[in-house]
Amino acid sequence: MNKGVLYVFSAPSGCGKGTVLTEIRKRLPNLKYSVSATTRAPRDGEIDGTHYYFVSRERFDELVETGGMLEHATFCGNSYGTPKEKVFECLDNGIDVILEIETKGAMMVKESYPEAVMIFMLPPSIEELRSRLENRHSETEEVIAGRVHEAAREIAMAENYDYVFVNDDISEAVDTLYQIMTASKSLTKINQDLIKGVLAKC
Ligand code: 5GP
Repeated sequence: MNKGVLYVFSAPSGCGKGTVLTEIRKRLPNLKYSVSATTRAPRDGEIDGTHYYFVSRERFDELVETGGMLEHATFCGNSYGTPKEKVFECLDNGIDVILEIETKGAMMVKESYPEAVMIFMLPPSIEELRSRLENRHSETEEVIAGRVHEAAREIAMAENYDYVFVNDDISEAVDTLYQIMTASKSLTKINQDLIKGVLAKC
């Protein structure tokens, strides 16, 4: 059985990652979305175990110290991390997994699991990103300023990804992401066994 593909998807906060991912999961119902752990407080409507595992600082640190996290990072004062076990269980069973994570954690995954397919979504502009964050009405001005600052830092990391595209229009962005995810199944870096298998019979 072929291993599942690990997709790492990053985009600055407010870029529409959540909306694009909801749509892509409808198109790829077998894709497993990895639920992260975070020390951040839940926003209105967020459900523990669905959007995040909302954990205490002590529990988060314990998960990191016992090697339970595939990657982890601090973002705007809160900690976020990907619980490792379920991700590898899925990949070993041929199930594709997507991580929706910020760039520091993404680079940790790239280093420890080079077969990961790295995808970055850009906002049309920083001004557009700021106004999307303001329209969300879920954060204070100070938090928004921090997120815009982080966005610029994250965009500078985009060149370390395999694919980059702009979210100017949701349905076009979903189409592009779908095409990237489909085409990346044929990347040489995740098909080494296939090449070796054919070569062995030459
Ligand atoms: P938010 O607080 O808006 O839900 O997420 C803030 C940032 O943390 C987003 O860029 C999101 O993709 C990222 N994030 C969510 N989960 C994880 C995770 O498990 N690891 C890392 N490194 N970043 C995460």
